Amino acid sequence: MSTNPASTANSLVRPAIAALAGYVPGEQPQGGKWIKLNTNENPYAPSPAVARAIIATAAGRTLAKYPDPLATVFRMRAAEILGVDPDWIICGNGSDDLLTILVRTFVGAGECLRMPYPSYILYRTLAGIQGATCDEFHYSADWTLADGFAAPQSAAGDDVKLAIIANPNSPSGTLLSPGRIKELADRLPCALVVDEAYGDFADSNCLDLVRQNDRVIVTRSFSKSYALAGLRFGFAVAQPHVIEQLLKVKDSYNCDALSIAAATAAIDDRAWLAENRAKIIATRRRLTDAMRGLGYDAVESQANFVWCTHPTRPHKPVYEALKKQGVLIRFMNYAGWGDGLRITVGTDAEIDAFLACMKTL
Ligand SMILES: *Cc1c(COP(=O)(O)O)cnc(C)c1O
Repeated sequence: MSTNPASTANSLVRPAIAALAGYVPGEQPQGGKWIKLNTNENPYAPSPAVARAIIATAAGRTLAKYPDPLATVFRMRAAEILGVDPDWIICGNGSDDLLTILVRTFVGAGECLRMPYPSYILYRTLAGIQGATCDEFHYSADWTLADGFAAPQSAAGDDVKLAIIANPNSPSGTLLSPGRIKELADRLPCALVVDEAYGDFADSNCLDLVRQNDRVIVTRSFSKSYALAGLRFGFAVAQPHVIEQLLKVKDSYNCDALSIAAATAAIDDRAWLAENRAKIIATRRRLTDAMRGLGYDAVESQANFVWCTHPTRPHKPVYEALKKQGVLIRFMNYAGWGDGLRITVGTDAEIDAFLACMKTL
């Protein structure tokens, strides 16, 4: 074994990687009886059609063969439902995979990725892996985005090559209207990804903008609204000539046969989605009102979580006290912005248990 630190493998890693902090996902305790309100998973079981599709796929010889690189059955079914042609869709191993593909496609070393702040921290990590910079443009106090978001260069002078907006945003749960997204897309010097991981819980989405503007790309996830975070499936919608470029960057077999079959069954069950959405939205209302009753500023949410801050009471001890009682919520501390509590909308029973704990604190 070498004792010379200069010759260890770590000294051979690209400087951009060595400098990375690395993305840290929320706690995923395995086992134990947690009430888990920390990573925006859906509290309900997925459509029963999902299990049937997985079992049918696993039973035959399908798994002996490589999966369809384009996930054609999913693309055809999703295209029909969304009202686009199949070649407007690319599938991924979760929408995180699509975000990776998008950043690799549009942003090179020394260039810049623009994102609002605070938002989904993964975008920053993806820029870092590319050796690119990340220009974090602060939301206004009311969670709107000023025109400066569309400036062609970062403060450091790097050219902005891609912008990503989570819409609805995390942690705020707030939504920018399609009209506002259109204005920003028209001003930006680059493509704009609208990350609609929570889009199914919102009042509007940006699919129409994709039809109007080839610089707008929408990503969707099966992890939240379809209750399939453990499956790993997502897709992006863009005009066909953009999809063609993205397909060059993706891994050949980025989606496996089980997830393709399961996601196709899930998107086909329109009634399940509508019913689940209605339940989540009703519980979101109750959670928001109850937190306001406890003296919190709870932001009106268009997603499946609620961002809460208290004018005087520190947030971290609340997170810690709840954890001792078996309730996990997300304490977020954004450097240069502030901290708060992000609470996922669980079942009514879970939210009741959470609120009962809150009242004893
Ligand atoms: C959860 C989440 C994702 C990731 O979704 P996956 O499909 O599970 O990879 C992407 N963007 C945002 C804003 C999210 O909150």
